[in-house]
Amino acid sequence: HVLVFGSINMDLVAKVPRLPVPGETLLGHNFATVPGGKGANQAVAVARLGVATAIIGRVGNQFGQELLHNLQSDRVQTDGVYIDTSNTSGVAVIAVDDNAENHIIVIPGANANVSEEDIERLTQLLPTASILLLQLEIPLSAVQQAAQVAQQAGVRVILDPAPAPTELPSELYSLVDIITPNAVETGQLVKFEVNSPESAQKAAIVLQQRGVKTVIIKLGAKGVFCASSDETFFIPAFSVKAVDTVAAGDAFNGGLATALSQGYSLREAVTWGAATGALSATKAGAQSSLPTRQTVEAFLQE
Ligand code: ADP
Repeated sequence: HVLVFGSINMDLVAKVPRLPVPGETLLGHNFATVPGGKGANQAVAVARLGVATAIIGRVGNQFGQELLHNLQSDRVQTDGVYIDTSNTSGVAVIAVDDNAENHIIVIPGANANVSEEDIERLTQLLPTASILLLQLEIPLSAVQQAAQVAQQAGVRVILDPAPAPTELPSELYSLVDIITPNAVETGQLVKFEVNSPESAQKAAIVLQQRGVKTVIIKLGAKGVFCASSDETFFIPAFSVKAVDTVAAGDAFNGGLATALSQGYSLREAVTWGAATGALSATKAGAQSSLPTRQTVEAFLQE
């Protein structure tokens, strides 16, 4: 099965006619609480694609039970989630205006306390796992320890370096089997602009020299570039009517991990990732946009 060690958030979304200016109070149209966090999104993505998934992380007192129930309703195993009652859950306070411009404030809450103490719960689940999914919404030291114990257990590590870091510790690269940055994140890591298969190829070489085995660069509506020690290829994006690309990257990683955990080749797994990402772009929202296995299989047969 697939493990996720990462963030769990509640998004507090207010729809407003326009974004307020400093000091202004504005009436909004609508309010909703929507579960999110890159860790939780990727866990739900894998679970919807029919593979057993467990998440290890932390929620807080506020929204904690709701977030756990939400994960469980998608059959994500949550025994590895610690309820940190001295903290709030991670939240994102989001204002979205009529032109889809937004303001976002992220309070990491319980996610900021994910640490060595949580590695024990991860270690217990590793013997039966094939893949560990990591992102960067919990402290980097915890990400690095998780990658270390997974490597020791022979579990394949996929790191989504998002949100974009300015740099990563050099030791982390060699603990990661597959790194999956988008164009912006790749640019941050290699310090040159990446926006095409050609520039992605140059960036992949730089990242491989830092010690990552396989580099997968997500280029949005352009497609995906992939370089491993055996092969290098580009897969153009599926042509879809995109309405909202929120969580397309998380969907991609869910599709990739699902296919790899089932023994598919790297090329097939990247295709699964691209199909899952494309389908999520056709629907609004984060977790609400993640497709089921049936939907992905039907889409791939078209
Ligand atoms: P992120 O959400 O991390 O910024 P991307 O926007 O690159 O990542 O999206 C991840 C993947 O999802 C892309 O590589 C692509 O396969 C798919 N995808 C995203 N947007 C579209 C789109 N508009 N049309 C088709 N596929 C898309």
